[in-house]
Amino acid sequence: MSNPQISIIAPLYNETESFSQLVARLNAVMEASPLSIEVVLVDDGSRDHTAVLMQQLALSDHRYQCVFLSRNYGHQIALTAGIASASASEALFIIDGDLQDPPELLTEFYQKYQEGYDVVYAVRKKRKENWFKRTAYAGFYRLMQSISYVDLPLDSGDFSLISRRVADILKQMPEESRFIRGMRSWIGFRQIGVEYERDARLAGESKYSFGMLQQLAYNGIFNFSEYPVKLITRVGMMTLGIAILYLIQTLIKRFVYHDVPQGFTALLFVIILFSGVQLIALGLIGEYVLRIFFQAKGRPLYVVREVIRQQQRQPLQGMDSLKLQ
Ligand code: UDP
Ligand code: MG
Repeated sequence: MSNPQISIIAPLYNETESFSQLVARLNAVMEASPLSIEVVLVDDGSRDHTAVLMQQLALSDHRYQCVFLSRNYGHQIALTAGIASASASEALFIIDGDLQDPPELLTEFYQKYQEGYDVVYAVRKKRKENWFKRTAYAGFYRLMQSISYVDLPLDSGDFSLISRRVADILKQMPEESRFIRGMRSWIGFRQIGVEYERDARLAGESKYSFGMLQQLAYNGIFNFSEYPVKLITRVGMMTLGIAILYLIQTLIKRFVYHDVPQGFTALLFVIILFSGVQLIALGLIGEYVLRIFFQAKGRPLYVVREVIRQQQRQPLQGMDSLKLQ
């Protein structure tokens, strides 16, 4: 079989409830489209029936390729595994498996791709999610835009269509702490945003806990900005400046006005304040050190348990399956 034109990539983690809807909508997209399309579903170590459903699907429908990871690695890694497993298609359409990203937008995205854009990313006009999540996301993207050295578009996640060459470059990026939307911006070429309304989750709950979201935000900040380190230096300089001014004032008081400075409480306050500042500074540096530490191990990003495609099971074993080409 020749390579499909489009690979649709969707990571799934405990998505039993929305699975049949996902497949129905993907089938409808494939049937309506003149393009030849394959779907790569990645099971990120689901604990419910998702893996069984995927297995049945891949065995019965040749358009679906299913990749099963050995355990739960998280959304960004699952997506990476999907990108690595796709056939040599012309372009990759990356969506979430919970139908928050409407697969029907493929046609519109592909049109932009044909106009010569390597990356067509979705920009959320409206988020049908709770107030806290909306505010947190909006704040994060604005912070990232002001401190990041890549030009990260506002309100755009991983939902996108990327060209083959962008996918191949992504595969060559061995970053352990992955922030794919940032890596995508870093790659460059011609990129364009398309607005859409992000639907609420079709069923089930978000699989991103608060901690995981925080980790994702950290990966964005520490992998794509040197601002935290610069900030430490600035705070240090400022403190030094204040200390020098204070010293001068004290000396003047002592030698001109013969007034001995007092105030044990103030002293204690300053010590506690700057102990805090120092610990935060250490923590910020620690974030970079941690990233060096994990990267230096050079571990594979994930382990594939099995790949099922075109009615034949291909158990993968050993290190071959682990490497990103
Ligand atoms: N997901 C995954 N591994 C995880 C968490 C999530 O593969 O550890 C998948 C999940 O099944 C969904 C997509 O990643 O298809 C986005 O996750 P989710 O909807 O929970 O995130 P949110 O949309 O709430 O940010
Ligand atoms: Mg979701």
